[in-house]
Amino acid sequence: MTAIAFIGLGNMGGPMAANLVKAQHRVVGFDLVPASCQQAEADGVTIASSAREAVAEAEAVVTMLPTGHHVLQVWSDILPAMKPGTLVIDSSTIDVESSRKAHAMASERGLLSLDAPVSGGVGGAKAATLTFMAGGSTEAFSRGEPLLSVMGKRVVHCGEAGAGQAAKICNNMILGISMIGVSEAFVLAEKLGLSHQALFDVASTSSGQCWSLTTYCPVPGPVPASPANNEYRPGFAAALMLKDLKLAQEAALASGATTPLGAEAAQLYAVFNAAGHAGEDFSGIIRFLRGQNEA
Ligand code: NAD
Repeated sequence: MTAIAFIGLGNMGGPMAANLVKAQHRVVGFDLVPASCQQAEADGVTIASSAREAVAEAEAVVTMLPTGHHVLQVWSDILPAMKPGTLVIDSSTIDVESSRKAHAMASERGLLSLDAPVSGGVGGAKAATLTFMAGGSTEAFSRGEPLLSVMGKRVVHCGEAGAGQAAKICNNMILGISMIGVSEAFVLAEKLGLSHQALFDVASTSSGQCWSLTTYCPVPGPVPASPANNEYRPGFAAALMLKDLKLAQEAALASGATTPLGAEAAQLYAVFNAAGHAGEDFSGIIRFLRGQNEA
């Protein structure tokens, strides 16, 4: 049993903390939203009156917060309250620069740290099937890996500080671009009189095969569990896709990488979000593309 503090008990953090409790760890949590605290309490998390109080006796701390700004703010608050030897893990999706700053703050205090963002969404958080992409020292990874394994099915050590965030935004840039590509192909197929199923049957076993097609197919029918069969309810909300594409563009600008399709995908999702679709699943972009074609 490990004493774990969990800060940020929202859509992802709540079920992740609950899975740590199920694995017999002692979890003390904190969130600014009372309803999230109540749900976590019902799942067996002890609720502290502040983030500092939550981390005071912890051997490991996990943060699951919206942005890099929140992570730096919370880490500046809690790091001084931690016992020596505590491992601190951030599983939020944030910019690489803030992630590296957070690691540096932990290192200045002699604390081990990991960035360990996730893929798999709320469903994966509940079912403990997330993929963790971790960045940090080998020592930090070997301490964190057993805890992350409780909340996920795969834990990959990607490299030093910030490498987990780098892997996450590169992966999601592929995802955003590929969803637009698959959607454009279905829209073209419709115009050419080709059925959705026929395109799926060919492309899913040909060189067009990808996750956006075979797991998250943006038209209803071929993949019954995809959000297209459920009125494009998320799933993975378009607002979060835009967030990740913007992070990828910030990183591309800062590092001098040429990512024209990533930039185009960020623009398209920005327009899609601004048109009122931020809460829809990101595969709903296909309806938007159809509308543009018809205009
Ligand atoms: P969320 O908004 O549901 O949860 C974030 C929580 O952090 C909220 O409950 C909020 O009250 C809390 N919080 C903010 N500031 C705080 C503070 N100072 N102290 C304590 N709590 C504070 O968001 P989420 O969907 O759980 O996502 C969390 C992170 O995971 C984000 O970085 C997101 O990009 C990433 N992510 C989300 C998904 C998804 O499908 N939801 C998938 C992969 C990654």
